[in-house]
Amino acid sequence: MKYASVIVDVSSMQTDRAFDYKVPEDLQEFLSPGMRVIVPFGPRKVQGFVTEVKNHSEFDKLKPIIELLDLTPCLTPELLKVGQWLTNKTLCFKISAFQVMLPAAMKAKYEKAVRLISDDTTDLPGELQPYFHKTNQVNVKDLEEQIPLAEIQKLIKKGQLEFVYQVKQKTNKKTIKHIALNLSQTDIDQVIQTLPPHAKKQAEVLTFFKNRSITDIPLQQLLTEANISDASVKSLLSKKILKEEIKETYRDPYQDRSFKKTTPLLLNEEQQKAIDPILTSVVNKQHEVFLMYGVTGSGKTEVYLQSIEAVLQNGKEAIVLVPEISLTPQMVNRFKGRFGSKVAVLHSGLSKGEKYDEWRKIQRKEVQLVVGARSAIFAPFENLGMIIIDEEHESSYKQEENPRYHARDVAIYRAQLHNCPVVLGSATPTLESFARAHKGVYKLLTLRERVNNRSMPSVEIIDMREELRNGNRTMFSTSLLEKLTNRLEKGEQTVLFLNKRGYSSFVMCRDCGFVIQCPHCDISLTYHRYGQQLKCHYCGHEERMPKVCPECESEHIRFFGTGTQKVEEELVKVLPQARVVRMDVDTTSRKGSHEKLLSKFEKKEADILLGTQMIAKGLDFPDVTLVGVLTADTMLNLPDFRASEKTFQLLTQVSGRAGRHELPGEVVIQTYTPEHYSIQLAGQYDYDEFFKQEMLHRKHHAYPPYYFISLITISHPEITKVVSVAEKISQNLRRNLGKETKILGPVASPIPRIKDRYRYQCMVKYKRENNLHDTFKKIIEHFQQEMTSNDLTITIDLSPNTMM
Ligand code: ADP
Ligand code: ZN
Ligand code: ZN
Repeated sequence: MKYASVIVDVSSMQTDRAFDYKVPEDLQEFLSPGMRVIVPFGPRKVQGFVTEVKNHSEFDKLKPIIELLDLTPCLTPELLKVGQWLTNKTLCFKISAFQVMLPAAMKAKYEKAVRLISDDTTDLPGELQPYFHKTNQVNVKDLEEQIPLAEIQKLIKKGQLEFVYQVKQKTNKKTIKHIALNLSQTDIDQVIQTLPPHAKKQAEVLTFFKNRSITDIPLQQLLTEANISDASVKSLLSKKILKEEIKETYRDPYQDRSFKKTTPLLLNEEQQKAIDPILTSVVNKQHEVFLMYGVTGSGKTEVYLQSIEAVLQNGKEAIVLVPEISLTPQMVNRFKGRFGSKVAVLHSGLSKGEKYDEWRKIQRKEVQLVVGARSAIFAPFENLGMIIIDEEHESSYKQEENPRYHARDVAIYRAQLHNCPVVLGSATPTLESFARAHKGVYKLLTLRERVNNRSMPSVEIIDMREELRNGNRTMFSTSLLEKLTNRLEKGEQTVLFLNKRGYSSFVMCRDCGFVIQCPHCDISLTYHRYGQQLKCHYCGHEERMPKVCPECESEHIRFFGTGTQKVEEELVKVLPQARVVRMDVDTTSRKGSHEKLLSKFEKKEADILLGTQMIAKGLDFPDVTLVGVLTADTMLNLPDFRASEKTFQLLTQVSGRAGRHELPGEVVIQTYTPEHYSIQLAGQYDYDEFFKQEMLHRKHHAYPPYYFISLITISHPEITKVVSVAEKISQNLRRNLGKETKILGPVASPIPRIKDRYRYQCMVKYKRENNLHDTFKKIIEHFQQEMTSNDLTITIDLSPNTMM
């Protein structure tokens, strides 16, 4: 008898362990860890992951597995390990750790099917042959009645059939029309002779087949490449010289773009110095973490490309993570241009079906490289040779729901298992990473110069208080407006950036730029309309909203914020002749709209690209010679200890959009706090000095990288309940955690109510804390009952990115 340990798809504390099931006779031969099954669970049937197959179980009276969902494991042994690690690292349920590693389509409904690999059915067992006469793909359900699963499994192992899921979606399988020769290559000339003399085009079609020595080609490709009309093909079809064939294809979102093949560039000295240690680590199969700190345009991507090439030549695979918003067609082109069909692309713009198809290519080993957003870190490669994380400082690498993992941590863990290097790249590394590089935990690789010594665009910092004093009440400074007008005249393009995050929550004096801050925490206070209160969301400090500025006694003190739509209206007023493309959540919510807007700008059908965070990265347009940042301060004043760091990163990124090619670029940064070090130093491209100054602040206020932080958020519809639970939790933390550990709160969350639920939080700051995980687990256990029956939520984030 065989038994399987199964993690079931029921998210609760009590069910967060493996349950044993009997393995039915017909599955015993090939059930293996990493496969999904359907099992009985109480009165229900649920999905689960097999984690172990064994000969004994300590329990008796076990129920059998009902159904097998995979014929090949969807989680490799390594990914099962990663799942276990994720569970410990993020305190999530095992089931969510496994699920997060798979494409969403695999949670959706689907049917199992097998597909014939060769066209020949004669090798198949007799009873199977009839199923494949008309089609090359048959539902397993239909087969199962005739043939035992084990038989099918054998045929899969022999390579005659392959296992596929048919995702039950509207666009289930994607098919395309092919046109095929209905005669042999050698007969082509003879057939051309029989065509009537005026049918020149038809003859051309056949010659096309002959010259390329192909027997079939997608219809669309034939029409464009042979440069012929539909009509010629139709008449050849009606003469039965050609025939139509319907073929299944991957939903490849990039298929209709052609990729210009690129070859490795001759690296400059800095690039060569950076790549050498990476290549050494590839050759020696050595795990190492590199931090490639290189200014924008210093040729980091070229270093990635050539490192990957070495990995592929070694017969290994690579994962490249790029932030969701910079997964632009331009970015994808660079990888597809170098590695062609060896690349799979995974990002959230794809449909479930498309994502599943890309994942399948990885699972089947049809690709050796995946370029994707955060979740691509779980690509089921078994022979990883390198993981690259571009723009490693990007906050989108952290998942803000369970499991709350950071892709960087997963990358390092997987790379350790595979003995391969990790390359983190950025022009503005996180303080954590740069500090690690300084300590020698990561190996620092530096690219100081832009390729070809192209200069960084010059930056002008505009004091908006000054503008106000001079009577300019618009949101465009005199200088920015002048430069905008000048670009319109010259036919050059401008990117206008509005930093929208955190708007209207902080209070600022429009005359002197003073922002009211917490006396204990060095972060801005948040304005609460109700009661006209200002609050600190870290320590709970409260004060009344002042009537005049505490600094200069001006009455122009108010909370702050504007939207892109408002900017667009103003822009049209002052520059009626400008053609503006606006990109924000509103204009890009429809699938594909993001790309459409960008391509409009790229084709120069617009003069100004106006947008939020989503235009700050990755874009590379040769005619953009001006970048304007409308309000550099908004992020600076978020209740977040990383506010300065994020501001510096963003300003540096945005500035990098200008003057990337022949035309020199200019940047205008509008701000109410021109003296702030993150703005000054971003204007001077001085990351090193910024790092120094910011580290002092972090040290002084006990923040990362000097301390680790955990955040516990408690929410419930009743405020009294939230407060009392939060109190109990903070008491418990104070009792159980070390003396050196700092516990802040409880205090209302920066967003104190979401969807009618009140939110409170406690923050734990520690250097070394052996009891942390245990204490957190016990807290969750203690409140387990109330969490299931009383609508209480407690979330624990062991490396919070935002404090909201
Ligand atoms: P980064 O990723 O650091 O922003 P890129 O890799 O995008 O920089 O390089 C900027 C530009 O310089 C690109 O157009 C790239 O093709 C070009 N480039 C990079 N390396 C070289 C090189 N060794 N020789 C010539 N051009 C290069
Ligand atoms: Zn405070
Ligand atoms: Zn003031």
